[in-house]
Amino acid sequence: MVLPIVTYGHPTLRRKGARVEEITPEIRQLIADMLETMKDAAGVGLAAQQVDQALQLTVIDVSEVTDRPSTLEVNGQSVPPEQAMPMVLINPEITPEEEPEPGPEGCLSFPEIYIEITRPKATTVRATNLDGEPIEFRCGGLLSRAIQHEFDHLQGILFIDRMSSVDRERLRPELEDMQAATKAALKKAGKIS
Ligand code: ZN
Repeated sequence: MVLPIVTYGHPTLRRKGARVEEITPEIRQLIADMLETMKDAAGVGLAAQQVDQALQLTVIDVSEVTDRPSTLEVNGQSVPPEQAMPMVLINPEITPEEEPEPGPEGCLSFPEIYIEITRPKATTVRATNLDGEPIEFRCGGLLSRAIQHEFDHLQGILFIDRMSSVDRERLRPELEDMQAATKAALKKAGKIS
């Protein structure tokens, strides 16, 4: 089932996710729905917070992106990234590596907003997969950027928190409008007072 994606201003986007202690049928269903939602929205990643669930859970799929390469290494061996897609990362821990570089980013919770964000080039990732098995890999390029972006979501951190002060000033009216529209819609639906 395609789930509604919450937009900036929704309080769940600022909540740190709880650890997933057990992969229950409900968690499996949520993961299936998140994969479907990400595909439907043509996104490269989706965090549980974006579908109103504050959990340490994210899905990633960079296989449709051809103009921004990704690299993936498992046990020191290079693996074609598309073979590992879509990725389900439960309780991920990441170690960003190498020098930071700027790159364009969007976010499904911020429609129409694209910002240059500077992040370390590579990432080592430890997580649990859909089968409850521990996984570890190192990645670069778009995959590294996407995972760092999604990992931030799981902590309640948003990409706008990492934008330059110039972008912050430039986007302030647009972001304030988006936040206000989200809150107004939630209020109307009786979800916040
Ligand atoms: Zn995002």
